[in-house]
Amino acid sequence: MALKAEIVSIGSELISGQSLDTNSRWLSGELGLLGIATAFHTTIGDDLDDNVAVFRIAAARADLVLTTGGLGPTQDDLTREALARAAGVGLREDAESLAAIAALFSSRNRPMADRNRNQAMLPEGAEALPNPIGTAPGIWMTIGAAAFGAMPGVPSEMRRMFHDQVVPRLRLRHWVERAIVHRRIALFGKGESDIEAEALDLTARGHVPEVGITAHDATISFRIRGEGLTPEAAWAQTEETAAMIRGRFGALVLGEGTTDVADALADELRRTGATLATAESCTGGLVAHLITAVPGVSPHYFGGVVSYANRAKTDFLDVPADLIQAHGAVSAEVAAAMARGARERFGVDLAISTTGVAGPGGGTAEKPVGLVYLGLASRDGVETRRVEIGPEQPRDVIQRRSSKQALNWVRTTLKTWPGQDGPR
Ligand code: AMP
Ligand code: MG
Repeated sequence: MALKAEIVSIGSELISGQSLDTNSRWLSGELGLLGIATAFHTTIGDDLDDNVAVFRIAAARADLVLTTGGLGPTQDDLTREALARAAGVGLREDAESLAAIAALFSSRNRPMADRNRNQAMLPEGAEALPNPIGTAPGIWMTIGAAAFGAMPGVPSEMRRMFHDQVVPRLRLRHWVERAIVHRRIALFGKGESDIEAEALDLTARGHVPEVGITAHDATISFRIRGEGLTPEAAWAQTEETAAMIRGRFGALVLGEGTTDVADALADELRRTGATLATAESCTGGLVAHLITAVPGVSPHYFGGVVSYANRAKTDFLDVPADLIQAHGAVSAEVAAAMARGARERFGVDLAISTTGVAGPGGGTAEKPVGLVYLGLASRDGVETRRVEIGPEQPRDVIQRRSSKQALNWVRTTLKTWPGQDGPR
């Protein structure tokens, strides 16, 4: 039977909607890399009875239970006591932990509060997990047949304790025998169902390695899961599939890891040495924001104009007023003039523009909500594209998707340009 892990996140702030439990996600990822599958994520508040109940359930259904949170010095930090109760044992003061906590306070020239003494309390039979960067030591113990590792909620302390203290204990038990890697290859420019239709052989059940598809803001991700005795072997298992995806989808591929459209565009700007400016109406600066979210683009991205009102389009981008009069601000003609104006004003190789109906109001039969015109000016002249995100979409989705379409158009255009050191 495969080993089962359960991760328990403790903190009232986590279940009330105030803050997000990122520890579980991180721990599941790390356990996965070690070949241990997580079967349950449980989140509970700072309530003693609930904690005891959850620990008992976890002890009965999981082999390994990792908890985070509730180890602090305050009233609502109940993990120590809950573990002792779930195991049916008392608490004892751990001299070594107390000395370590006292040393930490004196090194910071601060007096140790009495309640910090609590943090040196351990359930009988438990082992303390040293915490070199915080006051709360962790706890390692067994309840029933399950191994429990209790770690602090502070993510940096938890991560360090997991690697330095928990993983060696998992190895001692011979629980770490294989490795799993997850690779993500991001694509943009086609719908999820179209992409899936071209990859049914890869996403089929039982395919080795396992391949899944997810979509976020029109960026499609292939997720490949490789398994092996070592991380290298797990990686090797994914290579052929990754190469097939790259080969099959060509220019749609943005890259690997956390890459999105703006990162891939920044790579192309660096490769070609091209310069870019933006002229935005309905996206209100989002295109500029996405570009500048990538570090190191300043040699390539000069700037942009958020020309929301018609007058701003004429004053700052030299769009003729009668052009707007004749075709409307949301038109291919105005998108083209905005891009041309930005290219000339900024003196750049490329300028991209957006003008559209972001909604929820302002749509007509001819120009529905979600209609966005993009303009791209380059040395080859000006082109426009008509993009329809869909009238049912909320404003923010229309803005984000049309911004990404704009960035992607620049990216695919640059793909055909030679690199700075000559053609690739
Ligand atoms: P605690 O160990 O319960 O005192 O938690 C200390 C701090 O760590 C909390 O105030 C949160 O900011 C953070 N924290 C606790 N649990 C989590 C979690 N599951 N994910 C992310 N941060 C957390
Ligand atoms: Mg807490």
